[in-house]
Amino acid sequence: RTLLTGADARAWLLAYADRVLRDADELTDLDRRAGDGDFGWNVATALGKARTALLDLDRTAGPPDVFATVSDAHLGAGGTSGPLFGLWFGRLAKGPREPWTGRELARAFRDAVDAVSRLGGADVGQKTMVDAMVPAVEALEAEQPEPEWRAAVARAARAAAEGAESTRSMLARRGRASYVGEHARGVVDPGALAVAWFFESAANVERT
Ligand code: ADP
Ligand code: MG
Ligand code: MG
Repeated sequence: RTLLTGADARAWLLAYADRVLRDADELTDLDRRAGDGDFGWNVATALGKARTALLDLDRTAGPPDVFATVSDAHLGAGGTSGPLFGLWFGRLAKGPREPWTGRELARAFRDAVDAVSRLGGADVGQKTMVDAMVPAVEALEAEQPEPEWRAAVARAARAAAEGAESTRSMLARRGRASYVGEHARGVVDPGALAVAWFFESAANVERT
């Protein structure tokens, strides 16, 4: 199968929620070193709520329903990351109701990162979540012809992880990490790391 179904999307987001709920301390530690130390709490709160809502979701839910559920949970959470992740998942929720082809997957993630970049005013190289989102979508767009969705997302995950790692040597130009100047150097941006975890989580989705 090449298509991302609603059930796949639900399992993917549940796996991501589990990852964040398990390793939130690592995210918080990074935000403590280059921010205000609430990032892990902000995303874990959002994904805890999302997890409960996803488990209640109708089995016939399509990818848009799954992404809208996660968007709503982020919009209700605190921090700068709440509205940004809320918008990211909210744009994904505008994708087609039917299972997504590789092309539709790439298009949805392109629209989503463009929206985040516009709202936050952040481009690649400014030590934000955008540094993981952009290489991930480029990997999705580069994949030709239509791949099995897990294979496409696995490539996106490698690109996102490299993007997150690239933030280590950056000086922040956006968000709270920009207030601490040189102190942020050597610290991976937690938002970018969470995005890498998101794409990596697809590897834990069982084939149905
Ligand atoms: P706050 O700084 O309000 O406490 P969070 O801790 O919830 O916000 O989120 C911090 C993360 O948000 C950062 O790691 C970064 O990835 C992301 N971020 C902050 N500002 C921006 C921005 N202007 N554009 C994109 N992402 C941003
Ligand atoms: Mg913070
Ligand atoms: Mg804060």
